[in-house]
Amino acid sequence: MRTRHLENDTIINVAQLLKAPVGTERFFTVHLDYLTLDSDLGVRDVTASVRLLRTSSGILATGELHVSAHLTCVRCLTEFDNRYSETFEAEYWPTVDVLTGLPLPPPEDEDIFTIDQNHHLDLHELLRQFAILALPSYPVCGPQCPGPESLWRQEEEIVDARLAVLQALLDERP
Ligand SMILES: [Zn+2]
Repeated sequence: MRTRHLENDTIINVAQLLKAPVGTERFFTVHLDYLTLDSDLGVRDVTASVRLLRTSSGILATGELHVSAHLTCVRCLTEFDNRYSETFEAEYWPTVDVLTGLPLPPPEDEDIFTIDQNHHLDLHELLRQFAILALPSYPVCGPQCPGPESLWRQEEEIVDARLAVLQALLDERP
């Protein structure tokens, strides 16, 4: 089975796949230098293997993605790099009928991705959402993590600083 590669691109024209019988598959690999997750977080060197499957209602995308992230350890506040993986499965609904060009009713479930009127299926939002899921909620730099003692020391300094501010405010009161 031929696999197509997308380099720094997430858009696939699925017109032919939409015309194909239910059960038809297409395989892709994707590589992105960088993927923005939200305003202050992104991941690098994103790779994904993607299978698109023609279903009776649209296209089912399944696969696995790998991302490199630069995170801050919750225990010791050290910044570190690590690679994370996540499997994904998501449905894409066509917004127009591929044979007639007529608009189709939108999916009842708002979370379902859509294929635009030019039959372009965009993997970007799918990869973004599952890249977020791939990252740990509580990143720890590794088994060699010096532990929270170093964090406590920093917290004490912050508390000391806050108390100093509070004391200064109190001192200012007439
Ligand atoms: Zn750590």
